[in-house]
Amino acid sequence: MADTKYIFVTGGVVSSLGKGIISASLGKLLQARGYSVTIQKFDPYINVDPGTLNPYEHGECYVTIDGHEADLDLGHYERFLNVPTTRANNITTGRIYQSVIEKERKGDYLGKTVQVVPHITDEIKRNVKLLGSKYKFDFVITEIGGTVGDIESLPFIESVRQLKWELGKNCICVHLTYVPYIAAAKEYKTKPTQHSVKQLQELGIQPDILVLRTERKLSTELLRKVALFCNVAEEAVVQSVDVPTIYEVPLVLQQQKMDETVLRKMGLEVGPTPEMIAWNEFLQKKISATETVKIGLVGKYVELQDAYKSIDESLLQAATYNDRILELHMLHSEKITDANVAEQLRGMDGLVIAPGFGQRGIDGKFAAIRYARENNIPTLGICLGMQCMVIEFARNVLGLENANSTEMDVKTPYKVIDLMEEQKNVTNMGGSMRLGAYDCNLKKGSKAYKAYKKESIQERHRHRFEFNSEYRDQFEAAGMKCTGENPDTNLVEVVEIPELNWFVGVQFHPEYSSTVVSPNPLFVSFVKAAIDNKK
Ligand code: GLN
Repeated sequence: MADTKYIFVTGGVVSSLGKGIISASLGKLLQARGYSVTIQKFDPYINVDPGTLNPYEHGECYVTIDGHEADLDLGHYERFLNVPTTRANNITTGRIYQSVIEKERKGDYLGKTVQVVPHITDEIKRNVKLLGSKYKFDFVITEIGGTVGDIESLPFIESVRQLKWELGKNCICVHLTYVPYIAAAKEYKTKPTQHSVKQLQELGIQPDILVLRTERKLSTELLRKVALFCNVAEEAVVQSVDVPTIYEVPLVLQQQKMDETVLRKMGLEVGPTPEMIAWNEFLQKKISATETVKIGLVGKYVELQDAYKSIDESLLQAATYNDRILELHMLHSEKITDANVAEQLRGMDGLVIAPGFGQRGIDGKFAAIRYARENNIPTLGICLGMQCMVIEFARNVLGLENANSTEMDVKTPYKVIDLMEEQKNVTNMGGSMRLGAYDCNLKKGSKAYKAYKKESIQERHRHRFEFNSEYRDQFEAAGMKCTGENPDTNLVEVVEIPELNWFVGVQFHPEYSSTVVSPNPLFVSFVKAAIDNKK
């Protein structure tokens, strides 16, 4: 395609409407037509990246292959498109200002007063176009975080206005709003949508397509009314009704020909409707499953819906490919003790021990791991979860009393998990962990090898601490084997107890690379073991 096409996705009325899912679904539909598509997220907050944010603030922190700590929407983009994202796909106000201020200090602005318009907006525009010019995507979909009218998103919205003006037909704006149902009046209300569009128009942007989020189906009459009041063509008003799974959203949009409307508006040929065979096979499997698999996720953020987003989705994908309905139980690690662990884990076919930081809830993880190990329950430990498996084994099998990670106890007599050498002089907390994809070699015959079906893999990381190799022989002699390691540094990446049915801990995060059409093999293998355990 000659010119890259730019699609902006903005939101109004309320937050949490699912701009990320709409962006990913539209991206999927365009990709299915043979275009190369990437999706980018702009977050209007001042943090340089979400890596230093607490899950209570921002849900899961996603990690890209090139080691960027990113917004969890990038996880949706990858799960839908099956194409890796990079640092260029997630930009915050903090990053924009950091770069402008660096240029100012270097003297790049040649004595000019540095201002929001044009300097900040130019930097925003440069970051939008970079994906088109440098990476040559056919479509760049840019999701603007927050809701229109927020003070902090104004420079982003102004940049969209300028780009629409500069790029003409090569740029459109999709605006997502909410149509509430007022039970007392028994009516759907379009006024919030009208106000939201007006607000966008006041900022100089006429949306080209409207997506109305709604709990139940809206009438054609109502859609027509919205079109008339908002200056948007009737066929360009699309509704997004709640569906049982987010993976059905592309089909909902396809039925309303949203992708065709996009192509027409951008002067591209429409052509035949793509079939999306692999995608539909996944959905078909999901719908046809009748039996369940019960997985317990042991972590301390279980009350937060988004804290373990990628793990939840990986488990769902793995269960689906194993022809099972996922029954996910969030088990609060602070509430698990040696005394109640049997009760808490009752009926679980498999356990995932969650990643995390710090002391809170750690004893519950040890109790769950011990119970799983002694009762041969298939268990997958991820990052801190793997480290906890190592500590539990040290304490209860090797008899190393008070063995610990130096993250939890700097004075522990047995530092079985210790700070990585290169982390020892780190003082800045932002973006300074061991981040991104690294090579890992798997031992032939191990559970991990059998899952991946190859010796050399790459998975993403986000940690400061590591398995202390001084203890390696002691662990191996007692039955916990190191079955995966980094070929360059020998850092232990995978531990497992071969004697048990399926008991594997990984220092990396397999959940970041699991997608709808390409589920992560380790999760698939773990869920299969959980199903076998049930039998
Ligand atoms: N806190 C541990 C470390 O930094 C584990 C991190 C994680 O689970 N992502 O090594």
